[in-house]
Amino acid sequence: MSVAALVLAAGRGERLGLRVPKAFVPLAGRPLLLHALAAIAAVPAIERVVPVIARADLERWERLGPELAAIPKLAAPAFGGAERQDSVRAGLGVLGPNTQWVAVHDAARPFVRPPAVTRVLEAARASGAAILAVPVSDTIKRVRAGRVVETPPRPECWAAQTPQVFRIELLREALAKASAEGRTATDDAQLVEWLGVAVAVVEGDPDNWKLTLPEDLAAAERWLLLRGQPGGRGP
Ligand code: C5P
Repeated sequence: MSVAALVLAAGRGERLGLRVPKAFVPLAGRPLLLHALAAIAAVPAIERVVPVIARADLERWERLGPELAAIPKLAAPAFGGAERQDSVRAGLGVLGPNTQWVAVHDAARPFVRPPAVTRVLEAARASGAAILAVPVSDTIKRVRAGRVVETPPRPECWAAQTPQVFRIELLREALAKASAEGRTATDDAQLVEWLGVAVAVVEGDPDNWKLTLPEDLAAAERWLLLRGQPGGRGP
């Protein structure tokens, strides 16, 4: 099983409301992206880790120098595009022909833990496509123009996380189909779902959350402090 990981960091992260691109925002003194890269590189089965950054951030990336050298398996960055799908395509473009599996991870999820990644890799190996997800505790409403159009049964509602793992040819095919049809997905599994392929769901960790809003940064700093202490449980 030759596995590579793409760590997507080319989004602008405007909802964070900072001047620095989200991937380079410091968290406990290290850019967010470095946390995610180190966590993914710590997974034994992952052989190569490809960061996907915005071309405009290349100088910022190069300034990380020694910190990058400390992360094993790290490849040169690929340059992402306007949509997530463009960034994934760019990352796939630098993977060699021997890569059979790809794990796609958000740089904005710095707290992923290796055992969860290993679980989702194993599930993908059995089914071709697998994601981490957690059951939601809120009741989910589908809302259009300020009105509820549907309340899906809560036991069937899960929040999708990353990494999401695919047989590489399956993801390439899914990207090509979505692009031919002009469709844009909010996660990578959705592209594969559009092929009619079943995606396996593996229960993830609630702490593998995505930093999106300004208050998330302060919560993430607190979470790291708590996690560093014996018995710390995080927010
Ligand atoms: O925008 P969102 O929070 O869903 O982004 C999730 C991850 O995907 C982020 O780490 C972001 O940098 C990345 N992304 C990307 N290229 C894009 C959009 C998002 O690499 N065009």
